[in-house]
Amino acid sequence: MRQGSCICAACKIEIKDDLCRFCILRDVDDNPMVLHFHYFAPCWDFERFTKQYANFTFEKGGFSCNEKTTFTQENVTHMQSNIEMWIS
Ligand SMILES: [Zn+2]
Repeated sequence: MRQGSCICAACKIEIKDDLCRFCILRDVDDNPMVLHFHYFAPCWDFERFTKQYANFTFEKGGFSCNEKTTFTQENVTHMQSNIEMWIS
């Protein structure tokens, strides 16, 4: 669950959707950096992402939703296990 507002790293617009993506990266000095993205393309573009953040280590990726959104365990498992949701 996310709190407050977050800005999309791609389009620089505040994310007001119920669902967005987040990634935790580490820079060369091992400092963590959290990025949020609108869920859908063009904001989420895996190829562009890997080029743009080529110098960073990818630590974690996930989905963030607001408190009003309810997911079944099945939805969550699907989102956690389906790599195609990230690279397609
Ligand atoms: Zn965006």
